[in-house]
Amino acid sequence: MAGFKIIYDRDACIGAAACAALDPERFEMNDDGKADLLKGKEDKPGLWILKIEELGEAQEAAESCPVDAIKIEEL
Ligand code: SF4
Repeated sequence: MAGFKIIYDRDACIGAAACAALDPERFEMNDDGKADLLKGKEDKPGLWILKIEELGEAQEAAESCPVDAIKIEEL
């Protein structure tokens, strides 16, 4: 199956908000100052996963993160 997986390390997030600015469909800033991966599932404590069919702006969001908290894998 074609598609991609976003892997988001929420513990690593420093709240720079670049991801939410670039890909607001997938990332939103939470009141605790960190980003949430919208519709993501917590795979392990602090590690969130979302499978997507289209990359959209997710690549830009991943590249913009100053602490590399967002990874994209091709499925
Ligand atoms: S760009 Fe990285 S550090 Fe900034 S809010 Fe998004 S995940 Fe967190």
